[in-house]
Amino acid sequence: MISDNIMEKAHSGNVGKEDAIELLNVNPFELFTLADELRQSAAGNEVSYVVNRNIYLTNLCAGDCGFCAFKTEKGYILSKEEVVAEVGKADELGATEVCVQGGYLKQMNMDYYTDIFEAISSNYPKMTIHALSPMEIYHASGMEGISPHEACKRVKDCGVATLTGTSAEILSDRVRKIICSSKVSTQEWIDTITASHEVGLRTNSTMMYGHVETIEERLEHMFIIRDIQKKTGGFTEFIPMAFMPYNNKIGEAMMQQGKFMTSGIDDLQMQAIARIILHKHIGNIQAPWVKLGKKLAQVALHCGANDLGGTLMEDQITAASGGTNGEHLSAEEIEWIINETGRTPKKRNALYEAVQ
Ligand code: SF4
Repeated sequence: MISDNIMEKAHSGNVGKEDAIELLNVNPFELFTLADELRQSAAGNEVSYVVNRNIYLTNLCAGDCGFCAFKTEKGYILSKEEVVAEVGKADELGATEVCVQGGYLKQMNMDYYTDIFEAISSNYPKMTIHALSPMEIYHASGMEGISPHEACKRVKDCGVATLTGTSAEILSDRVRKIICSSKVSTQEWIDTITASHEVGLRTNSTMMYGHVETIEERLEHMFIIRDIQKKTGGFTEFIPMAFMPYNNKIGEAMMQQGKFMTSGIDDLQMQAIARIILHKHIGNIQAPWVKLGKKLAQVALHCGANDLGGTLMEDQITAASGGTNGEHLSAEEIEWIINETGRTPKKRNALYEAVQ
């Protein structure tokens, strides 16, 4: 049973690490009920989603993440004209946001990115550009010899509305050494995302769990996110993302030891504990239907989540790692999914503002 003391801390947004461990040991349904109460108080009855499209600039990458099933040896790099054409298709299909990202390479320098963002902004001024992870910003700024602050300012000036909070995986150098040793360290990720917030470029935040990390490392990750938010206020949402184990080295090693993907209860506990740890700090918790599947995502809306993410018209990354939940939902279907849970759909942009 959850103690009165922890209940009080949860409602005031002050749950600590020991409390969080205790909460993960109570009956999960008690945990879900508490998270649902906090969701109701933070976000009410509305469930948001965004009509968006992923555009992958390249499927080549200089990185070597053990969980990656996306990068290939012989791949493509989109030109500015090709990106603009893809944005045009998204626009025709009613998207209000494009999420632009990909691998990192020598060719992906600041000029490559800024040319593309300027072209999108001038051709489609109403399209929201959600783009680049701290890893891509860190890499491009390093090649240019400028600070991540300066790099963030430049992409913001070219029309980027928000950065993505990906490449966080698990913010533990022990874990990063095993799963993504060529990526930014924990501190470099923190510094880059903080720089982004400081220049007024808000971001979401993510956690990829279910591989080599411990429960304590998952919790530590969420507390790092909470600490950054207390300083900058720049996070728009938090997205717990279950690791997809297929077609990648980390997943294959796990499967050889008889360990497969996260369980549904584990996924729901992550949604719930994220809501509780981040209550009063980050108001939006996303249940990513592309990872959870439509039905578990609906259940997650009763375990702390208030957002379903995007309609996504392509999620090559999840599909490459064995995701079987599809790569696209129409706005009508996503609204139906939300209505069936007794909640009210709200179409939003990357800043969580309502859009028509
Ligand atoms: S996960 Fe991203 S950064 Fe890592 S190897 Fe794949 S494309 Fe590169």
